[in-house]
Amino acid sequence: METLNPRKFESAFIIKTKFARNVVTATVLSSIALVYLIVYLTGGVKFVYAHLMYIPLVLAGLTLGFKFGVFSALIAGILLGPFMPLDTITHEPQNFANWFFRLIMFCVISLLSGFASDVFKRHNEIIKNIWTVNQETGIPNINSLSEIRFRKRKHNHSVITVLINNHYNIIDYFGMDIYNILVYKVYLELKKKLSKNAIIIQSDSSKLWICDKYITLETKVEHINELLKIPFTINGIPLYVEFSIGIAKIEDFKMCKYADAYRHSDLAARYAQVNDIPYYIFEPKLLQSRGDFELISSFNQAISEGQLRLAYQPKFDTNTLKPVGLEGLIRWYHPTKGLIMPDQFIPLIEETQLIHLLTLWVIEQAVKKIEEFKKERIDVTISVNISCKNLFDEHFYDNVMSIIKKSKINTTQLELEITESVLMSNPEVSYQILKKFANEKFKISLDDFGKGYSSLGYLSKFPINFVKIDRFFVKEITNNEQMKEIVSVIVYISHNLGAKIIAEGIEDKNTLDLVKRLGCEIAQGYFYAKPIEDSKIIDWYKSALV
Ligand code: C2E
Ligand code: CA
Ligand code: CA
Repeated sequence: METLNPRKFESAFIIKTKFARNVVTATVLSSIALVYLIVYLTGGVKFVYAHLMYIPLVLAGLTLGFKFGVFSALIAGILLGPFMPLDTITHEPQNFANWFFRLIMFCVISLLSGFASDVFKRHNEIIKNIWTVNQETGIPNINSLSEIRFRKRKHNHSVITVLINNHYNIIDYFGMDIYNILVYKVYLELKKKLSKNAIIIQSDSSKLWICDKYITLETKVEHINELLKIPFTINGIPLYVEFSIGIAKIEDFKMCKYADAYRHSDLAARYAQVNDIPYYIFEPKLLQSRGDFELISSFNQAISEGQLRLAYQPKFDTNTLKPVGLEGLIRWYHPTKGLIMPDQFIPLIEETQLIHLLTLWVIEQAVKKIEEFKKERIDVTISVNISCKNLFDEHFYDNVMSIIKKSKINTTQLELEITESVLMSNPEVSYQILKKFANEKFKISLDDFGKGYSSLGYLSKFPINFVKIDRFFVKEITNNEQMKEIVSVIVYISHNLGAKIIAEGIEDKNTLDLVKRLGCEIAQGYFYAKPIEDSKIIDWYKSALV
């Protein structure tokens, strides 16, 4: 079993540099000479001034250790011994016992102060080691950052974040000890191959930071990426280690700016990790998510102040070209940011409980719109997009029912659009909840079909009224014969299951003709109509019916 060899810590000498050491040495020696002079000029050692000598001797012991302390004590003892009369006027000499005892006392004082200082330094070193070195791996930790001084700041520096992606797997299968050895090996490898000034820190159990000079960010990050491609072998077992790397430039060495570089390289590494790419170079757009958090925190206010509105995109019959329903698509008219499209905030909202609020709000708006249409003697069907989190929320069904019960609409007029990935994420629960909605005669659409990989046969178990073929899939069929074949099969099976087909993203006449030929009875897309503002949709619909 390999043992960790904790990094030998640079000791916490109070005097750290050679220059400071020379200055202290010179100060001690000149102070000794000065005291000698004072004693001589004030009349010799019969007066009290010889005691001044303790000052440079204690200083020597404390700052430069007991060896230098004793050396200084010997010089001082001899200077104030045979070289110093008892009385400088009469030149009466000291007797031997007198100056020899003083010399011994000087040595003892220097020894004691040197010893006290050594004990203090050792303790200081231990405390500093605990504070600045990860005790499990022996790699410097984040606290050691404050120790780092960049003496040659004229060089460009970068921070590189190395994330170990599969660290939980390694810990689960091989244990914490093996994982710690692995991280240490990665550290050693980097230490060996990078410049000797490179600083490597373990800032987290699965994260290393490297601070080093660079020529360009690309070459630096590629270099690190290459270095980490080697197998890391522990006890003869080559472990499979996955890394994600991020890099950012240190623009400014002022403390707060300097810390930004670490945050930026972390963001870049996280981006690489999420997107499954080996590395990523920081770009300011990654900071966007911080702004997004502010956006999301103003979401409640957006609802209460009427900043949210639904736009309605018509779906039409491919034969008659008459509208057969609408899809409600949310829009956020932000007071300062302007119009925000759903793709910019729905994924974030879906990470919070706010998605429940949003979907119920959308359903309420759709229901109100159906009632407005009813006043115009039009029975319209409106579909709304349901998120994964909504479907698996135990109150969702009751909440939807309570909105419907307060209204005068038929459940057949509300259509729920659910993506196939949602159904496949938890088929059993999805089935139970969809069955409840289907029993109440709500219409159910399978949205974005073709994006996932589920088989239609499997989907036959679900109560689905419409299969919406994703617009990217629709685009493909115009120039890909095989895709055309696949769509014909989807249409055939869907029809057999009693579901109708809606082709999304129809942007031109050719595509419309094609999907019609393939048997899609309903379509949706810019060719027919873009999403229409809430205030204009009724007039548009009326004129389209004529
Ligand atoms: P989706 O459900 O697939 O909605 C269709 C999207 O395609 C809409 O974008 C629509 O404007 C766009 N589209 C329609 N026809 C065409 C076309 O011919 N060409 C092209 N290129 N695009 C077309 P939008 O409104 O930006 O919505 C984007 C996505 O945001 C929606 O995709 C849906 O997943 C989500 N979304 C929108 N509103 C809501 C909502 O109220 N709740 C939830 N949970 N998600 C919503
Ligand atoms: Ca949809
Ligand atoms: Ca869709």
